[in-house]
Amino acid sequence: MPVATAFDDIYFSNQDGLAESQYVFIQHNDLQQRWQSHPHDTFVIAESGFGTGLNFLAVWQQFLAHAPAGLKLHFISFEKFPLKRQDLQQALQAFPQLADLSEDFINAYPAAEPGCHRRSFANGRVQLDLWLGDIHEVLPQWLPHAQDCVDAWFLDGFAPDKNPDMWQPSLYEAMAASGREAATFATFTAAGAVRRGLQAAGFAIEKVKGFGRKREMLRGHLPAAPHREQLAKGPGNDNTSEVTVVGGGIAAACTAFQLQQAGYKVTVISAGVADAASGNPQGAVYPLLHAERSPLAEFFTQAFGYACQFYAQQCPHDWFATGVVQLAFTPARAARYEKICRSQQAQGPGYDAATVTHLAPAATQELWSELPAQPSLYYPAGGWLRPAAVVTRLFEGVTVERQELAALQALDNGWQLHFADGSRRHSKKLVLACGAALKQLLAPFQVQLQNVRGQVTQVAATEVSESCPLVVCYKGYFTPADQGLHCVGATYARDSEDLVPIDADREENLENLRDNLAPAMWSAELTAQNDRAAIRNTTRDHLPMVGALADNLWVLGGLGSRGFTAAPLAATALVAAMSGQPLPLATDLWQRLQPQRLQTA
Ligand code: SAM
Repeated sequence: MPVATAFDDIYFSNQDGLAESQYVFIQHNDLQQRWQSHPHDTFVIAESGFGTGLNFLAVWQQFLAHAPAGLKLHFISFEKFPLKRQDLQQALQAFPQLADLSEDFINAYPAAEPGCHRRSFANGRVQLDLWLGDIHEVLPQWLPHAQDCVDAWFLDGFAPDKNPDMWQPSLYEAMAASGREAATFATFTAAGAVRRGLQAAGFAIEKVKGFGRKREMLRGHLPAAPHREQLAKGPGNDNTSEVTVVGGGIAAACTAFQLQQAGYKVTVISAGVADAASGNPQGAVYPLLHAERSPLAEFFTQAFGYACQFYAQQCPHDWFATGVVQLAFTPARAARYEKICRSQQAQGPGYDAATVTHLAPAATQELWSELPAQPSLYYPAGGWLRPAAVVTRLFEGVTVERQELAALQALDNGWQLHFADGSRRHSKKLVLACGAALKQLLAPFQVQLQNVRGQVTQVAATEVSESCPLVVCYKGYFTPADQGLHCVGATYARDSEDLVPIDADREENLENLRDNLAPAMWSAELTAQNDRAAIRNTTRDHLPMVGALADNLWVLGGLGSRGFTAAPLAATALVAAMSGQPLPLATDLWQRLQPQRLQTA
């Protein structure tokens, strides 16, 4: 039975937490009945106080049992003090009837990083957005992209007299502003201040019998307001549901995948599939962090958690959650890495240990005895994947037309695509997610992007190197063997877009490996087998470029060296924005990703 000592309150009823969830929140929002005749493709619930996730699990279970097959569930919750995974696990053991769902949920439970953590369950039918942070700080970051979308609010949270800070008019106002037509709410409390606050925000309120021995609780709804205009959302039924995505790598693949999930009809235009920057033999997934909380760190902590769950679900045979270690191969690196993990100190960024931990030399060598005795950063949830297999899998079921886009022309009703072979195609809605090609294509829009050449070298595994259990990063990186070969990467050259591998780059890759891992002798014995060069597309602030550039024209690019970490979240955010659904990113962070920041004129 979890108890919050700081609030002197419990997380759920000690009579029967599940029955209380069912009674207070599910029954008094009329969920079962409303699911049967819901006029939209997704039913959206928002909750104050996620706690153990019991309400979420209870709704998820009821939804699968009772909602019509075509309906989806989006559950959005806010939590200031996230429980530790072990505590969550222990608390949820009290509900064996939820065991299967709990297990999926606990496996996907995010690191305690501020911001939004989007997770998907039940083959994409159930989506959770868990926002970590004080609800009053988070709501203004959420609300601008969540107007007119919530069907039911669960007003939970510790009792108003024990937690008065949460129960404020601004919360009730946000509930009303985010409510869709006929939105309802339910709450376990009947406190007068809560009733008056909700009434003032526009809810019609009813007092009803409370759960168990509780005398009363509140429920209510937003009265139909004729002036409330219904915003057009989602793909719609006309030809606006057709989208053309340009690109053949991870950015285009994630975008096409999310568009399909959202009900769009997708055509992909690309000269090839996974044959450019997403075509390396192996790719690592780990975040780019700063020694202070920055927009970059915020984006990457969230993107990293999202990507790991995404690949585990979508590409379980080509994703290897081995962990990633980043060696502090110079004193300067050692100092920087220590700062990144200075979590308990006021100045430190305070990353959760589930994101990254700082290891002393001996602990680094416990990861793999062949590593040099250096301090390191360790990302336990990270790993590597097979890029081409992942991209191909995500494109499954999508039509890919083999064309090379040469130029774009704005039309009154969309865009004209001019291809290299002289042919053309009209597209109402267009997403450009084509990596290095964006630099030229977006030049007429004054969007400044940089292309950076990278070469990787594959080396044959030896008896020792074969035992490498995780991705090792230093100045370059070294991946665990896949079918007898390791991938050693990557060079970083701003002045060339030449795709022909060169000897100097091979030598640079091998030298970095030898020098940075010295005195580990095994690294000196590896022999190069082949090389591959490709071009990364980067932005000057290292944040990806995601958003609308013009009417019916969206872009996703600038993923740099972290494409496989950034693309899944960037794509789900882009598709949410395209279809007017709640964003999985804070408004301020979303603004920072917009392509307009890169425009010169
Ligand atoms: N709905 C939860 C469940 O299903 O387990 C139980 C919620 S518990 C009674 C209340 C939760 O509200 C706690 O997890 C608490 O940390 C959270 N909370 C309290 N004040 C908050 C605030 N200002 N912002 C966000 N969350 C808050």
